[in-house]
Amino acid sequence: MKKIDEEKLRQIVGDANIKTDPSDLYIYGSDSSVHHAMPWAIVRPKTTEQVQGIMRYANENLIPVIARGGGSGMCGQTVPVMGGIILDMKGMNKILEINLEDVYCRVEPGVVDDDLNLALKPHGVFFPPTPASSRIATIGGEIANNASGVRSVKYGATRDAVLGMKVVLPNGDLVNLGARTRVEASGYQLHKLMVGSEGTLGIVVEATLSFVPIPEFRCMGVANFNTLKDAGDAIGSIMASGAIPSMLELVDDVAIKAVNKTMNLGLKEVAAALIFEADGMVKEAVDYEINKMKAICQKHNGEDIYASYDPKERDKIFLGRKSLFPALSKYDDNLASTALADDMAVPYSKMAEMAGKIHEIADRHNIVMTAYGHCGSGCMHTKILMDTRRKDQWESARKAITEVYEYVRSVNGTTSAEHGIGLSKAESFKIEKADSLHLLSLIKKAIDPNNILNPGKLSQAPEDWVTATNLRYSVNC
Ligand SMILES: Cc1cc2nc3c(=O)[nH]c(=O)nc-3n(C[C@H](O)[C@H](O)[C@H](O)COP(=O)(O)OP(=O)(O)OC[C@H]3O[C@@H](n4cnc5c(N)ncnc54)[C@H](O)[C@@H]3O)c2cc1C
Repeated sequence: MKKIDEEKLRQIVGDANIKTDPSDLYIYGSDSSVHHAMPWAIVRPKTTEQVQGIMRYANENLIPVIARGGGSGMCGQTVPVMGGIILDMKGMNKILEINLEDVYCRVEPGVVDDDLNLALKPHGVFFPPTPASSRIATIGGEIANNASGVRSVKYGATRDAVLGMKVVLPNGDLVNLGARTRVEASGYQLHKLMVGSEGTLGIVVEATLSFVPIPEFRCMGVANFNTLKDAGDAIGSIMASGAIPSMLELVDDVAIKAVNKTMNLGLKEVAAALIFEADGMVKEAVDYEINKMKAICQKHNGEDIYASYDPKERDKIFLGRKSLFPALSKYDDNLASTALADDMAVPYSKMAEMAGKIHEIADRHNIVMTAYGHCGSGCMHTKILMDTRRKDQWESARKAITEVYEYVRSVNGTTSAEHGIGLSKAESFKIEKADSLHLLSLIKKAIDPNNILNPGKLSQAPEDWVTATNLRYSVNC
């Protein structure tokens, strides 16, 4: 382990904001992924000047720095594979301005998504990219991952809502990127480059975000399907029809069984269900969208089709989907839910085939995989449910991941829809971005010549990187 000058760090952030106890280091060595590696120190800055001080110290001493928000990243983005300082950004969590006249807000990066929306609600507006992890995910993490969520099908991903930001560069310099306007045509859109950069180019210390009015009317519906193909075809038809869903979610039989088992919801255990929603300021317009989606579901053999404006009914429809992530861990007492091959996107016409492929590959490798996601955005999630103590299950998982990714690439999809690359997808990212990897490396070198920001991630994954390494599980039989 490289020696860090704790005293120097204490001078920058104060005694209370640095942790080097092994138990703290252990906890911060992991996120919501399967990976783990030990950091050397946890530092929690409260101001931009402190971030600048830490970066200057780290850059001069060639110490890796890994920014961390809520630690909800599913691919190991915050796992310090090369050691270093974890920069815990949750200490910078002020909402600096809500400007209703110019329709933007300015926030520090450690603001939790739900807290931002709570503050916006009394003004009748909301920040729409909100991921399902909004209770813990921070704006900094959402920017660095280009997070999106159930409503992104209508309102876009984080990248679409970022107008500008202040960023501390690896050498400690502070730069102001973007503007407070809707349009900006000057040169490279550097603030957008930061979105999705996974903490490898700079530390976001302030963000200017757009928001939209909370719609007067929301209507949510559900349809059951006896085959994944019918559900997938319905998704494609809805999106090709010109309908504008504000949500279009798929859950498969594995997911439905898991939520029934955990929450006793009594959902019909069909091959797949679609949850759809329309929203807007004019009820007739929402009715029009919902009826269109209902009719398409019916045409594709959807059953038990039902929709409601009632908030309680809507909550009931969405409850299973909302509780899916923890519920998957209860699908079988011997199987843990792992965030592997967890997030892809394919063209709409391939949705049904993709869901079927996931099940076929899982069966062939004797593991359980589920297919669900924000399918209106083309996004398909899986989780691999397996006995993480067994070596053979890891071998099967690796083969399954490789096959799923090969399929995704073969239909011109992407192996990262919204959860980022981190470690889990580094190998696949290199294959997918083969044509442009050298450009990414050039950008990284230009901005971070000493390679101190989140080293080993994105274009930098070591040559021999394989998908399930640096595991946080002990594999013993
Ligand atoms: C139950 C569950 C559901 C989820 N659902 C969704 C979903 O619907 N949609 C979705 O997109 N994702 C989802 N995710 C994944 C994850 O929550 C998101 O990617 C989220 O944006 C991560 O935010 P975070 O604050 O936890 O970031 P972290 O995990 O802490 O960090 C993520 C990345 O951001 C970087 N970073 C953090 N702060 C900064 C900063 N200030 N400056 C520069 N870089 C920074 C880190 O270095 C890292 O590379 C889910 C995760 C869980 C556990």
